[in-house]
Amino acid sequence: MAVLEKNNSQQAIDLENNYGAHNYHPLPVVLNKGKGVYVWDMEGKQYFDFLSAYSAVNQGHCHPKIIDALKEQSEILTLTSRAFYNDMLGKYEKFTTQYFGFDKILPMNTGAEAVETALKICRKWAYEKKGVAKNKAKIVVCENNFHGRTTTIISFSNDPIARENFGPFTKGFIKIEYDNLQALEDTLNSDATISGFLVEPIQGEAGVYVPSEGYLSKAKAICEKHNVLFIADEVQTGIARTGKLLAVDHENVKPDILILGKALSGGVYPVSAVLANNDIMNVITPGSHGSTFGGNPIASAVAIAALEVIEDEQLAENADTLGKLFRDQINSYIETSTLVKLVRGRGLLNAIVINDSPESETAWNICLKLRDNGLLAKPTHGNIIRFAPPLVINEEQLLECVAIITKTLKEFE
Ligand SMILES: *Cc1c(COP(=O)(O)O)cnc(C)c1O
Repeated sequence: MAVLEKNNSQQAIDLENNYGAHNYHPLPVVLNKGKGVYVWDMEGKQYFDFLSAYSAVNQGHCHPKIIDALKEQSEILTLTSRAFYNDMLGKYEKFTTQYFGFDKILPMNTGAEAVETALKICRKWAYEKKGVAKNKAKIVVCENNFHGRTTTIISFSNDPIARENFGPFTKGFIKIEYDNLQALEDTLNSDATISGFLVEPIQGEAGVYVPSEGYLSKAKAICEKHNVLFIADEVQTGIARTGKLLAVDHENVKPDILILGKALSGGVYPVSAVLANNDIMNVITPGSHGSTFGGNPIASAVAIAALEVIEDEQLAENADTLGKLFRDQINSYIETSTLVKLVRGRGLLNAIVINDSPESETAWNICLKLRDNGLLAKPTHGNIIRFAPPLVINEEQLLECVAIITKTLKEFE
């Protein structure tokens, strides 16, 4: 069969163009192998992966412990649905609730589904616990958020392309400026039907916006005062990426509802989850929510292994140390640069801002050159380039990457 013939990168790109919907604009590179911090293209060229599948591959590509869990479980039992119990889900639920410090977990598959789940839990809580009048509950979100691609989630997105011609949209959301406590306080004061505040501890897709110190802890306190649930979307920032297990840990904040995805499985399998304590999670009753694949035995086995790797290999500590080194190195480059405005981030979630308009091609062209020089990264919002390697990267590799990045940037000065 023609599709199974050995082909080259251009042929692989043509296949995607001809037979796949054009819902992405990938950097032209076709990968067919990954190991740790490295990926390889079809012609055998090796690259450092500085995207990590949007922080899903924090544990590194094809981590042997996670792959073993996948293989082992896949030969025993893969899917039962939740119509029956299985012997892995309960173990996984006990493990993760203890790991993150919550009473209960609700297992899903993708990040967007987990966000949807959190919104549904929040609404149900509003009516059954907070006493909001039927169908009046509102949830506050932030400008320039990214929470996924479903119809409800894009209803409160700012991204015109994500919304264009997908209406009508879901009601019940109020958008306020990110990193603005006064806006939060004023909004919660103005409307007693507000029941949740959905926030990314760092806005990843928007361009790695780190809020002011104290923002998260003060926002949490404001929510508490108004009996509003603080809902942290840690799909991208969670699981050691920012130098702590969760990004909210930097301010010792305990969310009322925690949303996880991406690296919860080490990028091996789609696994997401919502965690909360009983007073909130108990609004969920049989039939009120579900997913055929959510909490399946493979997902359970894979996610336990993925979380064990984070602790075994102290990946949060590594992200913290090497993230500081990365920003120090890039900052010393910036001192003499007219091309790069700044570097920002936390742990190994960082971005540089290019001194050009978001409409310019400069960041894209830099990423093409980085690719030629052996490092894969992608622009976000035009003139911002995100740098997020797998957290298993070591110091020597990181310095090699800094050298590739600065050498490449010099070509554009
Ligand atoms: C990626 C992401 C999502 C959506 O996850 P999917 O698995 O792509 O649906 C939600 N929230 C944040 C913060 C993300 O980065």
